[in-house]
Amino acid sequence: MTVRPYNFSAGPAAMPEEVLQQAAAEMLDWHGCGMGVMEMSHRGKEFMSIASQAENDLRELLAVPAEFRILFMQGGGLAENAIVPLNLSRGGTVDVVVTGGWSRKSAAEASKYALVNVAASNEANGHTALPAPATWRLKPGTSYVHICSNETIHGIEFHELPDLRALGSDAPLVIDFSSHVASRPVDWSRVGLAFGGAQKNLGPAGVTLVVVREDLLGHAMPICPSAFDYRTVADNASMYNTPPTYGIYMAGLTFQWLKRQREGVLTGVAAMEARNMEKARLLYDFIDASGFYVNKVAKNCRSRMNIPFFLHDESRNEAFLAGARERGLLQLKGHKSVGGMRASLYNAMPLAGVQALVDYMREFEKTLA
Ligand SMILES: *Cc1c(COP(=O)(O)O)cnc(C)c1O
Repeated sequence: MTVRPYNFSAGPAAMPEEVLQQAAAEMLDWHGCGMGVMEMSHRGKEFMSIASQAENDLRELLAVPAEFRILFMQGGGLAENAIVPLNLSRGGTVDVVVTGGWSRKSAAEASKYALVNVAASNEANGHTALPAPATWRLKPGTSYVHICSNETIHGIEFHELPDLRALGSDAPLVIDFSSHVASRPVDWSRVGLAFGGAQKNLGPAGVTLVVVREDLLGHAMPICPSAFDYRTVADNASMYNTPPTYGIYMAGLTFQWLKRQREGVLTGVAAMEARNMEKARLLYDFIDASGFYVNKVAKNCRSRMNIPFFLHDESRNEAFLAGARERGLLQLKGHKSVGGMRASLYNAMPLAGVQALVDYMREFEKTLA
C-alpha cells in the first residue's frame, strides 16, 4: 500500500486513514443489511443504532455530564453564530470577546438578533495575544458570553476556559470549539453551550455538533426557525428534520477510532492531548530556534491545532509551498487574511507528519543559505 501524503489543511481536514478504510469497506453494504449508510432511512433501526452509538461514544470521550444534551445539526459554525443568539439571547444583550477572525464574525452575526457588547478585543495587537479575563468588561445581566476557544485563522487558543463566576458574571459561557474539539478535555463546569463544525477534527463537513446545558433549552425567540430551535432538535433526538446521516456515521467511526487511541496509560481524548502537545512543541520549538521562520503569537496562548508561520523572506513563499507539495506535504498555504503558511495539526496528523514538515523546513532553509 502506498503512503498517503501528509495533509495540513485547516478544514475540511485530514481524517484518520483507518476511518476512511472502514467507510470504504462498508460503502456498499453496512453490516450485512444490504444497504450503504447513505441509502438508509434516518428512522430505520440501522441508522438509529449508528446515531445513538455516535452520541454515546462522544459523551464518553468528552465526559459530557448528564445535564447536557448532545445535538447533531446542520449549518456549520457560521450558522451557529445566528442560531445561538436566536436560542439564548432572549433579544437582550450578549457579551462577545473578540480574539480573531472567527469571534469577530460571531459578534457581527449576533448583532442581528441581540445587542452585542464587545467585552474585550485583541485587535490592537493584531490578534497575537489573548486579553486577560480579569480585563474583560462583562455587562451585568447579559444572556451569555461568547468566546472562540481556538481561533483557527490566527492560531490562538484558550488553554484554560474563563471562570465567569469568578469574574462576577452569572451568564452561561458559549464556546466555539470548531477547530479543537476532541483535541483536549473540556471543563464543562465552566460551559453552558459548545458548538463546532465537524470538518476540522471530527469528520466530514455537514455535521455541526452542539453540546448544550438542559436549562438553556426552550428560550428561543419566536422568529427562530423550528429546525434551529434547540428544544425542538433535542426533543426529536436530532431528527426533527433529516440529519446529515453520512456525516454522523463518519463522525461516529472517528469517535470509535479516538476511543482506541493509547499513549502510555492515557486513552481517548487524554491520549490525543498528550500527542497534540508533543506535535505542537516539535514545530514551535523548531520555528523559535530558527532565524528563518517566525510565529508571532504569544507563547501562553499558542494554538496546538493551527500554527501560522512566516518566512522572513516572503518572496520565497511560492518556492516553499511547491517544494512541500513535491515531498507530499499538502495544503500549507496560510489563510488569505493572514498570509504566510499555516500547519494544522489535528488529531489525524501523526507525529511523523510534523517531523517530515520540520525536516523539510530545515532543508529548505539550507538550500537558500
Ligand atoms: C471553520 C470554523 C468555523 C466555520 O465553520 P463553517 O462550517 O464553515 O460554518 C467557525 N468557527 C471556527 C472556530 C472555525 O474554525
